[in-house]
Amino acid sequence: MADTRRNINKCSFCGRSEDEVGFLITGLNGYICDSCATQAYEITQEALGGKQKENATQLDLGELPKPIEIKNFLDQYVIGQDDAKRFLSVSVYNHYKRLLQKNAGDDVEIEKSNIIMVGSTGTGKTLLARTIAKLLHVPFTIVDATVLTEAGYVGEDIESILTRLLQVADYNVPNAEQGIVFIDEIDKIARKGDNPSITRDVSGEGVQQGLLKLLEGSVVNVPPQGGRKHPDQKMIPVNTKNILFICGGAFDGIEKKIAQRLNTHVVGYSAVRNAATVDKNNLMQYIAPQDLKSFGLIPEIIGRLPVLTYLNPLDHHALREILTEPKNSIIRQYIKLFEMDNVKLSFEGSVFEYIVDKAEEYKLGARGLRSIVETIMMDSMFEIPSEHKDSFLVTLDYAKHQLEKSNIARLQMA
Ligand code: ADP
Repeated sequence: MADTRRNINKCSFCGRSEDEVGFLITGLNGYICDSCATQAYEITQEALGGKQKENATQLDLGELPKPIEIKNFLDQYVIGQDDAKRFLSVSVYNHYKRLLQKNAGDDVEIEKSNIIMVGSTGTGKTLLARTIAKLLHVPFTIVDATVLTEAGYVGEDIESILTRLLQVADYNVPNAEQGIVFIDEIDKIARKGDNPSITRDVSGEGVQQGLLKLLEGSVVNVPPQGGRKHPDQKMIPVNTKNILFICGGAFDGIEKKIAQRLNTHVVGYSAVRNAATVDKNNLMQYIAPQDLKSFGLIPEIIGRLPVLTYLNPLDHHALREILTEPKNSIIRQYIKLFEMDNVKLSFEGSVFEYIVDKAEEYKLGARGLRSIVETIMMDSMFEIPSEHKDSFLVTLDYAKHQLEKSNIARLQMA
């Protein structure tokens, strides 16, 4: 409203004058100040948010990425692992379809296919999960199975797996109920030893029984802040029927179980013929559900993870590609770091080979590539920002010198 006496405009909501507020927005018959406008926005958001929370986000199959598109996206960040990528892409796409069908109320009910990925540590399981998260249209979270224990023991209750999902879904329960959970290190809850009754196995079979409940699909009471349940905490019921679970684990030593199984099959003429084609350097590709059972997963859990896929060990060629090819490869990251100081960083081609050789020599795998590059680049990263250079070439001699003077061998894996 305009104060005609002194001709000062005032906010029609709070009455403050023009010089008491940040600025005024003029309407047909009045004014609104910046703080009232902000408040009005918040009130609208709250009112709308309340309504939205009653429904899960609607998906549209036409707009969702197709399996080939999902895989192409993964290819930009993750080297190799084609089988795992295909399985993941199809599972995620089918997950969307199932959610759409749920909304449409069809009579042929598509059941969910939870996934389990097996592969040595550092071969890209978590990377795959993180990358796929970037393009998902449903809530997604990664949880670690190592912290889980049976209810009543030190550690986290199984239900806390869903706490993170609720958090990323902003506590919108219907949205969380169509989310995807990646459970890392699932092998850590394998039964210890074949005789389950020697001692109480609180982080093994007990946890698997608890997990089974989630995988099967049931209404679970989730502690909203995670951690342990306690009696006076308000629980949020979450139905896991439509939540897709992707599990990953290194299953250290499972190759032995696979080899044993393959050997026992080598009986009779046709088996001998098959045995000839077994690639002993990559036994993981022959993984079957019974190997997971021999490793210590209970059959009910295995039954609830019908899609079983594997990751290949990373060979020299794969490590070499990981160094430079992915969209955010280690080398690209360093080039970016230098670029921010206006320095053009380049490498002699032979440096890459050298780095990969060292990673293999020290048995550091893909995780070690970064430590090696870090060691080589440390001195130059310290000095160059103050040196006003406009380019820096890492030669093989320089790389060798830097690595040899450090005690990189300390990084060596056991
Ligand atoms: P895992 O979960 O299988 O133990 P990660 O996914 O955490 O292994 O991999 C560790 C790191 O190694 C990643 O951050 C990534 O930099 C690199 N890495 C591993 N495998 C690949 C791959 N196939 N392609 C690209 N980078 C990889």
